[in-house]
Amino acid sequence: MSDKILSGKRALVTGGNRGIGRAIALQLAGAGADIMINYVGSEQEAEQTAADCSALGVRAFCCYADISREEDVAKLFAEMVEKLGGVDILVNNAGITRDALLLRLSPEDFDAVLTTNLRGAFLCMKQASRLMMKQRFGRIVNISSVVALRGNAGQVNYAASKAGIIGMTKSLAKELASRNVTVNALAPGFIETAMTAELPEAVRAKMLESIPAGRIGQPEDVAAAALFLASPQAAYITGQVLRVDGGMAM
Ligand code: NDP
Repeated sequence: MSDKILSGKRALVTGGNRGIGRAIALQLAGAGADIMINYVGSEQEAEQTAADCSALGVRAFCCYADISREEDVAKLFAEMVEKLGGVDILVNNAGITRDALLLRLSPEDFDAVLTTNLRGAFLCMKQASRLMMKQRFGRIVNISSVVALRGNAGQVNYAASKAGIIGMTKSLAKELASRNVTVNALAPGFIETAMTAELPEAVRAKMLESIPAGRIGQPEDVAAAALFLASPQAAYITGQVLRVDGGMAM
């Protein structure tokens, strides 16, 4: 039997050019899925990631889209259909932070985070659902965060967006279960990427103390869980939140 469990499947990874999204794109490609890498700023990284996926023997493309903009998302899915013929797997990974304690948190920074993290995922799920319902198959994996479950000082906006992701995941899972479309969320803990590299050393050390596994997570740890949820083995799992956090949020 082939070990390419996603052979013939077509996957879209938002923010797939770097960090966790890149690791997910590479693992899905390694399992045989054709890949569309979405990015908003870093075109060069997107092209590099697409090239690295192609080197694994699949078709891979990249496409600019600001996922918070409806017209961009429509174009992204049109490109996906044109280049790959449809979408079987959607990974809503793109996300931003604009951290500040509540009293210093501006309404603009609140809106920016909600618009990208929550509205962006909503717009992509809406486009994907249309195609997936028709073909009676789909896997949607939304990237939430441990912060949605535990809260985090200085991240009222981010936590709200990631908790919103969980609510959307469970609601859409109920809407689409009968169409053979699963919708699940991952709640990563503290993962080594550009997003967490900005944190001061003292904050990192304190975070590390709260991780029973005793190490910071790697993007590949999250990607392995995304691959599982996208795989045939996870066909009977929907509406779930899987924590990938070294035991941080038990
Ligand atoms: P990075 O900051 O390394 O990457 C963020 C990605 O999102 C980039 O690819 C970026 O694209 C993309 N992106 C941002 N805004 C948009 C937009 N409007 N439209 C399209 N793409 C966009 O973050 P991580 O890899 O660390 O995080 C990935 C996901 O995992 C995020 O949703 C994050 O919230 C979540 N997460 C991360 C954790 C961590 O510890 N790192 C923990 C828990 C959850 P570009 O490069 O082109 O700007």
